[in-house]
Amino acid sequence: MHPVRVLLLGGTAEARRLAGELAGRPEYDVVGSLAGRVAAPASAPVPTRIGGFGGVDGLAAWLEAERIDVVVDATHPFAARITRSAVVAARRTGVPLLVLRRPGWAEGPGDDWRRVPSLEEAARRLPGDRVFLATGRMGLAAFAHDHERWYLVRSVEPPAPPMPPRAQVVLGRGPFTVDGEVALMREHRIDVLVTKDSGGEATAAKLVAARRLRVPVVMVDRPPAPDAATVTSTDEALTWLFRLTAD
Ligand code: NAP
Repeated sequence: MHPVRVLLLGGTAEARRLAGELAGRPEYDVVGSLAGRVAAPASAPVPTRIGGFGGVDGLAAWLEAERIDVVVDATHPFAARITRSAVVAARRTGVPLLVLRRPGWAEGPGDDWRRVPSLEEAARRLPGDRVFLATGRMGLAAFAHDHERWYLVRSVEPPAPPMPPRAQVVLGRGPFTVDGEVALMREHRIDVLVTKDSGGEATAAKLVAARRLRVPVVMVDRPPAPDAATVTSTDEALTWLFRLTAD
């Protein structure tokens, strides 16, 4: 029997972990896929292609040309376009699809969160003047019109305009520590944190820091969950794959 050809849509820690788990198993032949946003992505344990497929049609054609048996979408919860492409292309080609999504964050005692449906709405509802914008460099345009507030912008790579005129950029890739986040927010006298509900441990420290400093959090909700089989951990994804391929 030939190995099961898996397309693993990545760009997340979960995708890297799953690739690491599958890499040593001869029954799977995994192709990773990255959008190519980051100039120096973390090294991948499986052969990885880089760049978009060209929408639904491009992805569907690619799945057929590459004889893919199963797609695992382990992209970021806010990467809605590639997930939609995966759902439609998988349906069209009859290739099974699994979505791996880490759970979102949950508000706890001592937190002061305001949930909003979009970055634009976050920009309209900022309860402060010194804003820690931890939304990634793609999310800055929504705040670019704001000439009043001061922004601390954190991103993995230097952001490009449009971005708010009164801004300082700090480069950083998680995991972050609570002590580091507290120090950063104190140093810049942050009075509101804006973040997307990405979930996961690597970037959760800023939420603990905000709670400690009694800084309100504007939390941007996730896009709607895709209409596809979904799991929340790499272990569950492995179990799903083993079951699928055992049948
Ligand atoms: P997006 O808006 O859903 O995707 C935009 C386009 O980029 C897609 O239509 C697709 O192009 C291409 N693309 C996205 N992910 C791809 C992948 N894994 N392999 C091949 N092509 C991909 O996605 P995004 O929010 O820009 O995110 C891009 C990448 O960064 C994703 O891999 C995601 O996991 C990662 N990431 C995103 C965030 C975030 O906050 N959005 C945070 C951390 C990591 P075509 O239509 O041409 O196929």
